[in-house]
Amino acid sequence: MSTHSAPRPAHPGLRPALWKRAAALIAFAVTGAVAAVASIAPSADTELLLAKAAVPEQLPIRLEQALLPAPASYVREERFQRGDTLAGLFARLGIAADDARALVGRREIRLLRPGAIVAAEVRAGGAREGELVWLEYLASRDGIVRIERAGRGLAASERRAQAVTRTERRSAVIRSSLFGASDAAGIPDSVSLQLAEIFGGDIDFHRELRQGDRFSVVYETHWFGGRPLRAGRVLAADFVSQGRSLKAAWFGDGYYAPDGRNMRKALLRSPLEFSRVSSAFGMRKHPFVQSWRAHRGVDYAAPSGTRVRAVGDGIVEFAGRQGGYGNLVVIRHDARNTTAYAHLKAFGRGIRGGARVAQGDTVGMVGQTGWATGPHLHYEFRVGGAARNPLSVPLPAGAPVARHDMDAFRAKAQPLFAQLDLLAGSKVAALE
Ligand SMILES: [Zn+2]
Repeated sequence: MSTHSAPRPAHPGLRPALWKRAAALIAFAVTGAVAAVASIAPSADTELLLAKAAVPEQLPIRLEQALLPAPASYVREERFQRGDTLAGLFARLGIAADDARALVGRREIRLLRPGAIVAAEVRAGGAREGELVWLEYLASRDGIVRIERAGRGLAASERRAQAVTRTERRSAVIRSSLFGASDAAGIPDSVSLQLAEIFGGDIDFHRELRQGDRFSVVYETHWFGGRPLRAGRVLAADFVSQGRSLKAAWFGDGYYAPDGRNMRKALLRSPLEFSRVSSAFGMRKHPFVQSWRAHRGVDYAAPSGTRVRAVGDGIVEFAGRQGGYGNLVVIRHDARNTTAYAHLKAFGRGIRGGARVAQGDTVGMVGQTGWATGPHLHYEFRVGGAARNPLSVPLPAGAPVARHDMDAFRAKAQPLFAQLDLLAGSKVAALE
């Protein structure tokens, strides 16, 4: 699999290899923090020179013959960012000032919205440096707008683009973090976050990931106008964490294990929202995390303000200040189980005694109120009033696949699980 550690592509959600295939507009793409730059098919002159160079009985090579001429034009792609100016965008695309001014006045350009990917071919070198050949962008779900040189001016046209859904298969081994592994394998953030959701009832992604843990994932990508636009739903995934292997496939309304068990638990394993920021923070501060035995709870180091979520449906039993706990929320989930969230900087909207909460609702923000030396969440899980280790307490699961749906589930899930096995096998083979 991919071993490069290049910076993330300029277009979130797209991996470099996909871009290379999305070559409707570009001959080859160099992805990175900077724009993709590509040379255009050789001009007649270039072809002539290459043909000469291919003749075997050549005189000693002269430097000027050995050098390829600079491309006559190039294509760049840029994302129109929030807060961007049109002038800034056109400058990044390499469009000369005259054409940039002409573009700014056009109705089609005023429709450009932040987030749009804009591609342009401009002339390189000589007196026509920066002259626009054409510019295209995905205007909406329906079409691609194209503005091109027509005589001495510019002309615009629009064509419908086709939306296509494809399936991607990727596999990764964790060395430092889930996102680090995803980056190395070219897996978009939205897919990593879905993995954390799918397996979040079984694995605490803030505390339980270890070097050598690995995962494989099959997910959809939505293509538009010949290029990948964004990642879609995870169809199936497996996760091997500390020797424990978990598998899940999407079916109907949720994710289910091969035997039909629901991956969703009545209570989430972690109260902390998983994100690129919070996961990196947890890694960095790992020694800070105290063991459960020491003080009847687990501490999650996280940036101040990180969202804390209710691990399950319930009723707020307490929300207020309480000694060393600082700002504290206690939620009763059922007759036996309660959870407590301490040192909060602020409470979630509507979080007060007696309020009803649903799993995933915001109970507050990470802070350091009470006895806390730095921003962190102190989390307790109590069963029948006694503290239990939240990492090991068994959690009740949601309803499994209905008996009469099992055949349909197997028919859908088994080919996906087979793909995962293949992926995992090839990954292990590549490492050995
Ligand atoms: Zn604590």
